[in-house]
Amino acid sequence: MNSASEFSELMNALPIDRRRNLPIPAVTARHPDGEPDFSTVDGREAFRLASEGRCGICARPFDGEVAFLGSPGALAARAYHDPPMHESCAEASTRLCPHIARRDMRRLTDRRSTGELPAGSSPEKPDRWVMWICRGFGGAVVNAIPVFLPAPYTRLRTFTYTADGQIRETFDTTPGGTG
Ligand SMILES: [Zn+2]
Repeated sequence: MNSASEFSELMNALPIDRRRNLPIPAVTARHPDGEPDFSTVDGREAFRLASEGRCGICARPFDGEVAFLGSPGALAARAYHDPPMHESCAEASTRLCPHIARRDMRRLTDRRSTGELPAGSSPEKPDRWVMWICRGFGGAVVNAIPVFLPAPYTRLRTFTYTADGQIRETFDTTPGGTG
């Protein structure tokens, strides 16, 4: 059995991907054969759910606060391609989403050996993820891709990687880092 405690309770009704034993988020894109493509958000579905006031992970209505999960770049731009979520669903995503939950081990080795990030390290794999929690958002479609614009945050939560590449929440704050 997978550790059910890692799931958000709201995610209980989601279909399960049998290969990975993971719940399939509502906005996860599908390959032509129907297999989930966990690395891709279905932009149209993301925009539809958000405009209906529903969570991009579990598809249930929001009850006030919404959470956005993204890289420091998304934080700085105050713009997200991933849809708004329940805070509990966003938190579960940090543990369950294969893209977020574990840092690329090869990159970690490179980093250790040189003491700095290797040149050309992938911008798609940030070294931290920031959860932006707020009480509303706007949205736009830019070049056929939805962009979500969160209201000013009420809280920020930061997640970084341990030395062995596991994600964990950190309570360190960078002075002035939220710009
Ligand atoms: Zn949810």
